[in-house]
This record gives sequence, structure tokens and C-alpha cells, in this order.
Amino acid sequence: MKVGYIGLGIMGLPCVLNLLKAGHELTVWARQRERATAALDAGAGWAESPAQLAAQVDVLITNVSDTKDVEHVLLGEQGAVHGAKAGLVCVDMSTISPIGAREIAARLAAAGVDFLDCPVSGGQVGAVNGTLTIMVGGKAEALHKVRPVLEGMGKTITHIGDSGAGQVAKACNQIAVGVGVAAVAEVMKLAKACGVDPAPVREALLGGFAQSRVLDIHGQRMIDDNYVPGFKAHLHLKDMGIVLDTAQQLGIRLPEAERVEGLIRQLVAQGEGELDSAAIARLIWQQN
Ligand code: NAP
Repeated sequence: MKVGYIGLGIMGLPCVLNLLKAGHELTVWARQRERATAALDAGAGWAESPAQLAAQVDVLITNVSDTKDVEHVLLGEQGAVHGAKAGLVCVDMSTISPIGAREIAARLAAAGVDFLDCPVSGGQVGAVNGTLTIMVGGKAEALHKVRPVLEGMGKTITHIGDSGAGQVAKACNQIAVGVGVAAVAEVMKLAKACGVDPAPVREALLGGFAQSRVLDIHGQRMIDDNYVPGFKAHLHLKDMGIVLDTAQQLGIRLPEAERVEGLIRQLVAQGEGELDSAAIARLIWQQN
């Protein structure tokens, strides 16, 4: 199966390298060709636009930033829809709004193109190791077609429901991760305030009921006070915005998510949006 890939950042590039390793024929496009150097050096081909890319491939994967970026590369002036060959399936691994995903799916369906929202969890480590959790919204037949490609990037592939349902699952995931990061920061705060080294506290908790990937990976980041991303705070802010917008549309309150969104917003407002979002720990430690 010929695969196209757009979005060669922290998540996209390791996915591309894994797909090449798995033997897929792969072509990429990026806004600036130099951003694609690592993928091209590893054996990927180059297309001059998303439309040209779509004309060459059976599945086109996007792993960009936000809803408007997915719309731009799939439906914009040079967008994939203008070159799509019959039977093309577009797979979007970015985290975007569930409503946006449904609208994109409908607009592509009108042009005869299938769209699956396939946001992921597992972070940079999961992308590098090819062990991402992939949450799928869209038609089962389209998923069946592209599953062998998804298996080159992820271990747990779950069909959640119709278009947008994958993004709903991802929004749920971001509540658990965001609130979990804040909880781990408070763990460290209490240990330090008691004069106890947080490193063995983390180690002990990893063996018990409080065990989590957040405690493992973000807990270590906090102990090292090193917030090289990982998951950039400005992207996490976007995700918490999706969570809160969705809640507002439904008329429900999510107070824990609201608190975490406020902390990440403060971090980004301080000009630290490129840090890993676990840096909200510093704000939590500064508070009384
Ligand atoms: P990133 O490192 O910032 O990479 C984003 C990539 O998308 C860059 O290569 C960027 O190109 C490209 N891009 C963005 N907008 C574009 C547009 N309009 N047209 C063409 N290319 C565009 O971000 P990331 O961490 O890989 O995240 C990608 C997506 O995965 C986001 O939706 C994020 O929320 C989600 N996600 C991230 C993680 C994580 O741990 N990092 C985990 C799960 C999900 P340029 O190089 O030209 O800027």
C-alpha cells in the first residue's frame, strides 16, 4: 500500500521512520522541504503539494497541529482533496476538535474520499517505539483497509465509533493526562515540603496503586526539572481548549480540567509554550 505523510514533527517523523522500516512505500510533503530531510534520507519520496501527494498514494496520513491545519492540508487551495485518486483514505492522527473532524469527514465524503480521525496517545516514546494507542472514528471498512498501516505505528487500535468519536476519546484522554500531571506535581510538592526526597517516593508509588505512565515519565521530568518536550505546552493548551469547548457545547462543567487548562494557559502566557506541559509543576510548586 502506498502511504503519504504530512506533519514531520515530534510525533510524525518517528511514525514515518517506523513505516519505512516496516517496508511501506512512503512519500512526504512539508511546508519547507528542509523539514523533511530526515525522512528523505531514510528513503521517503517527496511530493510538491498535498494534492500531488494525494494523487500518488492509497492512504494519506496527517499529523499536524490543529483543526485549521488539517483543513488546510486536506481541503485548502493545494489540498489533498484536489488530487485524491479513487479509493483514497485520509487518516488524521492530529488532535483536533470532534466537530471539526466530523465536518472534514463530510466534506471529503462529498468528494468520494474516506476520512478517519485517528488521534493517538503514548507520546513521543510511543511514536518512537511504534506502540501508540490509536483511537479511531469513522467507517469500519475504511479502518479495515488501513489497519496494516496503522499497525506500523501503534499497538492498540480501537474503533471507537463514527466520525469524531476518535477525537472524543482523545479529549477524554487529555483530561486524564492533564489532571494526572497536576496530581504528580502535588505529590512532589508534598514530599519536598516534608523534607523527603521525591525520587524514591516516585519509585515506591510506581510499584503500587498510583502507578501510571504520567507518574513514570512526567514524574521523572519533574525530578530532573527538565522540560524538553515531549508534548509542547501550547499543544496541550489547544487540547484542553477542545475539552472545554466540547463541554460548554454540551452544557456540562469539568472543574478539574478547567483548573489544569488555567495552569497551562499561564505557562504559555509566560512565553513557555514550547516547554513540555509537565512544566505546570513549576507553577504548582510556586503556589502556597
Ligand atoms: P510538532 O512537533 O509541533 O509537529 C507538528 C508538525 O506539523 C510540524 O512538522 C509542522 O510543520 C506540521 N504542520 C503544522 N501545521 C501545518 C500546516 N498548516 N501545514 C503543513 N504542516 C503543518 O507537534 P507534535 O508534537 O508532533 O504533534 C502533532 C499532533 O499530534 C498535534 O495535534 C498534537 O496535539 C498531537 N499529539 C502530540 C503528542 C506529543 O506527545 N507530542 C501526543 C499525542 C498527540 P513545520 O515544521 O513546517 O512547522
